[in-house]
Amino acid sequence: MSCFEPSSNATMEPRAPGVIPIELKNGGRVKANDVPPQGVYRPNYNILTPNMRSPEYVQMSTAAALTLGIMAGKMYRCECTRCLNLLLTYPEGCRANCAYCGLARHREAERDYADRNFIRVDWPAVPLEQTIDIVAKQGDKSPFHRMCISMITHPRSDDDTRAVLKRWTDRIDPKAIPVSILSNPTTMTRDDVKRLKDLGADIFTVALDAATPEIFDRTRGKGVQSPHSWAKYWEILMDARDVFGAQKFGAHIIVGMGETERDVIELVQKLVDLGGHSHMFCFFPEKGSLMDHLPATDRGQWRRVQLARYLIDYKGVRAENMRFDEHGRVSDFGLNEEALEDVVTKGVAFRTSGCPGKFAEDISACDRPYGDSPPSNIASFPFAPNKRDLQKIRRQLKQ
Ligand code: SF4
Repeated sequence: MSCFEPSSNATMEPRAPGVIPIELKNGGRVKANDVPPQGVYRPNYNILTPNMRSPEYVQMSTAAALTLGIMAGKMYRCECTRCLNLLLTYPEGCRANCAYCGLARHREAERDYADRNFIRVDWPAVPLEQTIDIVAKQGDKSPFHRMCISMITHPRSDDDTRAVLKRWTDRIDPKAIPVSILSNPTTMTRDDVKRLKDLGADIFTVALDAATPEIFDRTRGKGVQSPHSWAKYWEILMDARDVFGAQKFGAHIIVGMGETERDVIELVQKLVDLGGHSHMFCFFPEKGSLMDHLPATDRGQWRRVQLARYLIDYKGVRAENMRFDEHGRVSDFGLNEEALEDVVTKGVAFRTSGCPGKFAEDISACDRPYGDSPPSNIASFPFAPNKRDLQKIRRQLKQ
């Protein structure tokens, strides 16, 4: 694919999921071995995966484990992450089959759930109480600006999300470290959304991931034997709008799965008009996923969408004032050159987008270091881009 060609629907076709032997379905191997968990489990394909379940256990990103001191090591150009992402965990894993996701069900034969890579990194499993103990002891010195519970598609995930939230807020003031919910609409009702708000959740997000209903269906619906539907995701997103209110709900969008720049930008505008925000991810071919043979998003496409999204979310520019070429690429951002240059120079537009932290409204707590790119060609900057980064970004904007 030329770097001037946006990814097209035809080029971004997922592989078909394979057949899973019956004994390996639903976490069969982990349940048959039934190894009792002992403290922290670091993904290791050479030892038997313990039988761990939420709410007693949660998984967390490698960045969060390093920041908590559960794992030793350093991250390239980052001292820590500001968001503690907690992922529900079960031997059965996520029952959905999203084509771009490393946690998807089609991997059951190849890799136990707790050993699967997700947004490019391993996710150690840690007892929830141990996690809460560490953060509670840190008190107001905690590096975390936010905690986020990532629900997955599992029959227990609604109950267990509430249990994790309750255990957390019993010991940690949600005003000091606010909690976001990355929801799983497929198993949820409006009442479930309300219950999470009543228990103290601050922001509710829906991972639409796909920018159009066709891409949604192809990558996480019927196209890959996955249970999700665009209509159900929007139903819960609108419930979140009613229950959590303006600026307290949002949607995740992955850029580069076959949509045009215009498709994403119009969706971003729609979300802003509804009172919400968009959190963007640059498509990266996750190892072991049904899209691991496909190209990562062209950097020109990604930078333009990042910049346009920032202008709409924080600078009052509207999608209608932008202009697009015949391929749906941005040709004019709808802002005079001086003002646009000022935004580019500040660099915030190119940082990871997500729920806000304590630095500023437009700086995400959720920085997901290298979650959507390798450090050698950063897509979402988990820190302020420096002068050299900005030179590269300027070149990429023109690609
Ligand atoms: S529902 Fe979420 S965790 Fe499950 S396969 Fe889809 S993207 Fe991955």
